[in-house]
Amino acid sequence: METEIDMFQQPNLTVNAAGHLAIGGVDSLALAEKYGTPLYVLDEDMVRERMALYVDAMRAAFPAGSRPLYASKALCCKALCAMAHEQGMGLDVVSAGELYTALAAGFPAEDICFHGNAKTEADIRYAVSSGVGIIAADGEEELERIDRIAGELGARQGVLLRVTPGIDPHTFAAVNTGVVDVKFGVPIPTGDALAVTGRALEKENIHLLGFHCHIGSQIFEPDPFFLETDVLLAFLAQVRRAWGYTAGVLDLGGGFAVAYTEDQRGPDCADMIRRVGERLAAGCRALDLPVPAVLMEPGRGIVAAAGVTLYTVQNVKSVPGGRCYVAVDGGMTDNPRYALYGARYTAAVADRAGEAKTARVTLAGCCCESGDLLGEDMAIQPPHTGDRVAVFVTGAYNYSMASNYNRVPRPPIAALRGGTDRLIVRRETWEDVTRYDL
Ligand SMILES: *Cc1c(COP(=O)(O)O)cnc(C)c1O
Repeated sequence: METEIDMFQQPNLTVNAAGHLAIGGVDSLALAEKYGTPLYVLDEDMVRERMALYVDAMRAAFPAGSRPLYASKALCCKALCAMAHEQGMGLDVVSAGELYTALAAGFPAEDICFHGNAKTEADIRYAVSSGVGIIAADGEEELERIDRIAGELGARQGVLLRVTPGIDPHTFAAVNTGVVDVKFGVPIPTGDALAVTGRALEKENIHLLGFHCHIGSQIFEPDPFFLETDVLLAFLAQVRRAWGYTAGVLDLGGGFAVAYTEDQRGPDCADMIRRVGERLAAGCRALDLPVPAVLMEPGRGIVAAAGVTLYTVQNVKSVPGGRCYVAVDGGMTDNPRYALYGARYTAAVADRAGEAKTARVTLAGCCCESGDLLGEDMAIQPPHTGDRVAVFVTGAYNYSMASNYNRVPRPPIAALRGGTDRLIVRRETWEDVTRYDL
């Protein structure tokens, strides 16, 4: 008998007959036993469902040629790139290393968009010669560099110009200064984006496909995307008036929110996309613009909720008059997000997942660093040494941000599909950690 854990309305997280946490129907303690801890577990069925959801929603909401690009920085390895391709997504890479991973996984270069605010000459040469479909150019200097390199390689490179619309996704406000004062993109409000577009159109070896914009992350409401659409359409109309150029592609970026704690509810992404489609169509009608093909770049929204990290409790310490510390065999090396920016998570004792969470603990990592915590004031079942602790919603920006601090080897990733498990990234060894030492 399996009972559902009422967590983030995630039906893949259940308590099995033994009282253990099951992920996608697989006993988490059996996984910890088989692969060791710390262990990243990824529900591949859920990843594929999320990918299909974005593909279908975007096909329904936007014109032909519209599709989601998986923002691979959220979790980049060959298996994830392959899944994105199999599910009909394009791919967004932000470094030559991510591009290399994608190509090594057999991802078609023409379906890849290459981002980055400081691409090197070698990065651009690698992308152009690999036949990458789109380079998102971050500014005028880079446009010139792409133009020159494409010329040398005898290519005409598809480019989106990255613009900053001056939108704060967390106040749903258009703010002309401040939010354009960032390292990414060319600002629209200052007139720079219009001027640079004019010069991009004159470049012989650049095929300007349209514009790219990414307003932020953890967006729970459609409103920031509405505002972004409005600002971009007004900009497209301005570009058409000034330069007689009608952009065919608009990349609205990523940022779909996920629930990390029980008081949060993830947004209905398909509904958000449908409503952005309506907003876009209405805006185009009002401005007499053809509706552009739309790209979006979900990263976290695809993989975050499909990930669970399993640890083993090494000791439990209650400080008299202080807090209860539960120390585990991982920490900031496999999940730096709490140490880095106080990101909150939900956890459970996997051995007794169905019992009441009556303990309040500080979940501590094993690094020699007081700030190496996975969370504070976390509600979990009363923990004992040797228990397995599960931290939920760790699929995004965990493995991809992991480090070897203290020479801790990075954990493996076990993917679950149809009730069976396989490794998609193996555990690092001490030999791996010392392999570059001369
Ligand atoms: C980070 C990023 C994304 C993905 O953001 P999520 O919040 O993970 O969806 C998409 N596009 C660009 C350009 C980014 O920098």
